[in-house]
Amino acid sequence: MSELHDLYQEVILDHNKSPRNFGPMEDADLTMEGYNPLCGDHYTVYVRMDGDVVSEVHFEGAGCAISKSSASVMTQYVRGKTREEVEAIFDSFHNLVRGKTDPAEAAETLGKLAVFSGVSEFPARVKCASLPWHTLKGALEHRKEPITTE
Ligand code: ZN
Repeated sequence: MSELHDLYQEVILDHNKSPRNFGPMEDADLTMEGYNPLCGDHYTVYVRMDGDVVSEVHFEGAGCAISKSSASVMTQYVRGKTREEVEAIFDSFHNLVRGKTDPAEAAETLGKLAVFSGVSEFPARVKCASLPWHTLKGALEHRKEPITTE
């Protein structure tokens, strides 16, 4: 587990310092705002769809290292996945960060996302890690109101 833990630190530091796909997207098909009032994380997620496939995701905003790195990894991970696949990944990821999945098992399906299993040790940070995913899901569901973790 310490290997996964080291990787967790590394991924969070790296993606917090240089977030991928960070910045607004012109002509996004879907846009959604998400807030985590407990921590102050606030992001906007932009999605470009190609039929039923997520072709590109961008995000902008501000928040803690965990929320920002989670959003950054998410934008890379969901590209090319169908709406249905993204929902399945969201469920697996959500279970992982809540400590409901064995991390080693999750690594097989979630790949790089499995490093966020470290979050499950810190219940207050679970919402930070899952906020970008809740926001993306809200965008895919064409929700009208901003997403909030509370
Ligand atoms: Zn946070």
